[in-house]
Amino acid sequence: MTTKAIHASRIFTPQEELVDCVIVIEDGRIIAVGRREEVRVPAGAKEILAPDTIVAPGFVDIHIHGAGGHDVMEATADALLAITAEVVRHGTTSILATTVSASRDETCRSLEGIANFIAGPNDLAPTRPLRAETLGVHLEGPFISHARRGVHLENALAKPSVALLEQFLAAAGGHARILSVAPELPGATELIDRAQRDGLVVGIGHTDATYDQAVTAFQHGARHAVHVFNAMRPFSHRDTGVLGAVLTHREVTAELIADGVHVDSPAIQILLASKGTDRVILVSDGIAATGMPDGNYRLGTFDVTVSDGVARNADGKLAGSTLTLDRAVRHVVGLGVPPIEAIRMATIGPAHRLGIAGKKGVIAPGADADLVFLSPDLNVKGVMIRGVGPE
Ligand SMILES: [Zn+2]
Repeated sequence: MTTKAIHASRIFTPQEELVDCVIVIEDGRIIAVGRREEVRVPAGAKEILAPDTIVAPGFVDIHIHGAGGHDVMEATADALLAITAEVVRHGTTSILATTVSASRDETCRSLEGIANFIAGPNDLAPTRPLRAETLGVHLEGPFISHARRGVHLENALAKPSVALLEQFLAAAGGHARILSVAPELPGATELIDRAQRDGLVVGIGHTDATYDQAVTAFQHGARHAVHVFNAMRPFSHRDTGVLGAVLTHREVTAELIADGVHVDSPAIQILLASKGTDRVILVSDGIAATGMPDGNYRLGTFDVTVSDGVARNADGKLAGSTLTLDRAVRHVVGLGVPPIEAIRMATIGPAHRLGIAGKKGVIAPGADADLVFLSPDLNVKGVMIRGVGPE
C-alpha cells in the first residue's frame, strides 16, 4: 500500500478553495482532504510539499481527436499512448477519444481499436510516463447536418439509423459515452432514444436545427451541446434556432472551444452570462497537431494544415484545434472568469456531465487521485494520475 500526503498552499476541490491543506492518497485514491489540523496523516506516508501551488483535479477533456502527432481514429495502442501522454503535459488526466464522421467500416475499426485499448493493459494507470486515462468514446458524427458539417467529409455523413448506431455501440464494446447528433434530421429522435438506452449522453451538434427541433431533442433527453456557436445555425432575434434553445435551457450543458479563434470574446461572454460557468464545459477539440509544430496532419480520415497553431482544411475551414485545456482555462480567466470557476469548467463540469463526478474531476474522499499542480498564474507545474507523480 502506497500512502502519500500532499501539503498544498491552495486547493481547488473545485467546489471550494481550501488554504493550507493536506490531501491524503492511498493506493491511487484520495482518502482525506482538509485543513492540516483536521486531517491525520498516516505514519510512513510520503510527504509532498506544494508551496505557492494551486492543486486542482486533473482536467477531463470530453472532446479531443488527437495530440502528439496522432489521431484517435488510428486506434492503435501506439497512437493512443502518444495522445494520452501528450495531453498530460497540459494537465489533462482523462479524455473521451472523439471520432469524426467516417464510413461505417472505418468507424467500426476505430471503435474496436479504442475499445481494445481501454480494456487492455495499455490503459491501466499507474504507469510511467504518465498517461491520461481514456474514459470512453465521443461519437461526433456521422449523424450530422450537411449544411453545418464543418470539415466532416460530405460522403461520410449518414442519416440517423438505429441499426448503424447499434453497430457502432457493439464495436465500442460498451465504451461509447457521448453521441453527437443533428436533431433536425429524420429519425434523430429514435436515435436519441436508442443511445440513451445504453446510457450515452446525447449532444446536439453540427446542426441546423430550429428552436423547436432542438427543444424536441431536449424533451427526448438530449442534455448537451457540442462546441457551441461552431457548426450551428446562427442566432437571429426572430429565428433563434438551436442557439436560442441551448442558451435558454438550463439542463443543457454547452461545450466551448476557448482558444481565442473559434469563438470571439463577446460570444463567450454571452454564453457564460446565459448559462453560468457551471453549465459550460471547456473542451479542446484538439487534433493530432496538438503539441506539434505547424505542418500537415490528419484529422480522422482527412488532411488538415496547421499554420500559427490554427488547423484548417483545404477550403480554409477551421478543422479542430491545437488547444489544450490549461490554455482554455487561462483564456476564460483572461475574460474575467474567477480561476476556481474556470477550473470547474474543465473538471467537475465535464465529470458531472458524464455522471462520474464522484470519481473524476473532484478532490474528495473516494475520487481517483488525478491532480494537476498549477502555478498561481495557472501554468501546469506537475500532474499526478491515480497517485503516481507528480511529474
Ligand atoms: Zn470535434
